[in-house]
Amino acid sequence: MKEILLCKYGEIVLKGSNRRYFEDTLCKTLRYRAKHFGNFEITRSQSTLIIEPKDEYADIDGMFESTQKVFGLVGISRCAVCEKNMASIERTVKDYVPQFLAGKKTFKVVAKRSDKRFVLDSMQIAAEVGGYVLSTCPYLHVDVRDPEIVVQVEIREFGAYIHAGQFKGAGGIPVGTSGKALLLLSGGIDSPVAGYMMVKRGIQLEAVHFESFPYTSEMAREKVLTLARELAPYAGTFAVHIVSLTHIQEELVKNCEEDYFTLILRRYMMAIADKIAKKKGCGALITGESLGQVASQTMQALGVTNPMTTLPVFRPCIGMDKEEIVQIARKIGTFETSIQPYEDCCTVFTPKHPKTKPELAKVEEQQRRLDFDALVEEALAGAYVEYIRAEV
Ligand code: ATP
Ligand code: MG
Repeated sequence: MKEILLCKYGEIVLKGSNRRYFEDTLCKTLRYRAKHFGNFEITRSQSTLIIEPKDEYADIDGMFESTQKVFGLVGISRCAVCEKNMASIERTVKDYVPQFLAGKKTFKVVAKRSDKRFVLDSMQIAAEVGGYVLSTCPYLHVDVRDPEIVVQVEIREFGAYIHAGQFKGAGGIPVGTSGKALLLLSGGIDSPVAGYMMVKRGIQLEAVHFESFPYTSEMAREKVLTLARELAPYAGTFAVHIVSLTHIQEELVKNCEEDYFTLILRRYMMAIADKIAKKKGCGALITGESLGQVASQTMQALGVTNPMTTLPVFRPCIGMDKEEIVQIARKIGTFETSIQPYEDCCTVFTPKHPKTKPELAKVEEQQRRLDFDALVEEALAGAYVEYIRAEV
């Protein structure tokens, strides 16, 4: 039996004259992914995209799973295609539909006919098909008002589509339609979630990770790259810049008061990220900061780190509780990696009493004890890139 996927757009339908651009970007992503799963054709029909396997080797299960992580789609239906006559429809309904009805008690049938020459009208098709369903699943009841599942039959020009129930799509808008931004990716729980949330809003990702070898380990770096790979099914292929802060941290410890270590380190992070972002054409930075979570995430602390960049800083977790962030981390599959206990450069040389209400003038005075620009340039010169490929 031939199966296809019917994908429903989300917000794209509201895009007015830009809609074409959003659709094109979405199709490009789907075509890129489809290549991985075999020979598929992707066509558009009003606010639906049709993904159709072109030979028996095309892996529709793989494509279905991958499609659920494509932003811009709100619903995906698996759908059987058969000939446009009631005998063929009956056979297909009886073979194909019961697998979607397990555990359900009520259903209804909705029929649509774009081919108006078809012998039965929509009401008649729905009644017939309802009968087929009941004859194979006699424990079900028809409920036209509030059914647990809707069996749909569409009579099109070239055949009939039969599907039962829509699976949730990833929502959001297609990756790339909002431009590119640089994610400050640590090994923690929050920053991968922040990246995911911005990708959902159409951001194409680039990432930077700061390490402090040998105070942080190879394992800590590997953990971050694993997190990046876990984001790739949503984000697509992207680059992770690895920057060493070892020398900066050693200079900090030698020259500055302990209470200011974290704040000045974070100012370096923002300054370095700002430069990488601008060089790579990113229009914003993204961090996993959440208000009040730690000393460096108070309003005043954010106030002294923010001025190190002129770019907008997206902080999608800013108003979220840890538990809410954890829920998303679990959903997207980064949580288990994030809780592996490796150190981060923020957790080495941490002050016992970090300033929670720092004054900008005092932080600047501390920072003047270092050759800020030279240290930034040195860190940038030593940076290298790891490419994360989306193997969908
Ligand atoms: P996370 O769970 O994302 O690590 P956190 O609660 O541990 O967050 P911090 O360590 O204060 O918070 O970091 C706040 C944000 O700064 C992170 O979400 C991330 O965006 C950025 N950041 C922290 N450490 C690094 C790092 N080593 N490399 C890149 N970005 C970092
Ligand atoms: Mg962290």
